[in-house]
Amino acid sequence: MKKIISLILAGAMTAALVTGCGSTQSDSNAAASDVASETLSDGVLTVGTNAEFPPFEYVGDNGQPDGFDIALIKAIGEELGVEVVIENMEFDSLVSSIGSKTDVAIAGMTVTEERQQSVDFSEPYYNAVQHVLIPADSTIATYDDLLGKTIGCQLGTTGDFIIEEIEGATDQQYNKAVDAVNDLVNGRLDAVIVDSNPAGVFAANFPDQIKDLNGEDFGFGIEEYAIALPKGDTALKEAIDVAITNMKEDGTFDKLVDEYME
Ligand code: GLN
Repeated sequence: MKKIISLILAGAMTAALVTGCGSTQSDSNAAASDVASETLSDGVLTVGTNAEFPPFEYVGDNGQPDGFDIALIKAIGEELGVEVVIENMEFDSLVSSIGSKTDVAIAGMTVTEERQQSVDFSEPYYNAVQHVLIPADSTIATYDDLLGKTIGCQLGTTGDFIIEEIEGATDQQYNKAVDAVNDLVNGRLDAVIVDSNPAGVFAANFPDQIKDLNGEDFGFGIEEYAIALPKGDTALKEAIDVAITNMKEDGTFDKLVDEYME
């Protein structure tokens, strides 16, 4: 379907070039933006997430995924006039599930070059940085203090990729960041590397046992969260980007920030 549409478009553009007629050219441009997303054609947007990443996604009191990202994608679905179905799965499976089990993924997912090999991303909607959680009595304070340490993370996350680069460090991967945090509290880890907002939520659960350090002091860079999209569905990307921009302009986005962020 997608291929047929792009062939038709290519044909229209060739016709415009051949005739050299300005109005034909602009007609084909209008057609390009009118092309419907193949992903949305069934009226359902199936969204992968990993509901283990508060406040962006977690399992709510009713047993269903809730959180900032879930509210955001539901609001986007409303704007696009499609039903949103949430599929809760492991973080590490989210990217590979797009195009088979799911249409898109929202999971506090950082835009990385490696992920861009397999998926497209929406406009970024949130900035974050990795934080370092340490036991309250730990003296870890700089990047060099992390060398050779045993450090926990959630498998397949940017925190995981950072630990892989730390010289001599043991990278202890968990399916859920909260399990790494529990092992930190139990004295099995020297540190946990996890995104800023979840770090704040986890640390608040153990105020006497855990210190939450800003990774910027360790040289970690700012990361951008975006919705992962099937590669090449430019109509879907455009529709979602417009929806995000509209929500930022009309205050819906800030309302969600107020509702879900600490
Ligand atoms: N932002 C991190 C990443 O994209 C972690 C996301 C998560 O654990 N949900 O890898």
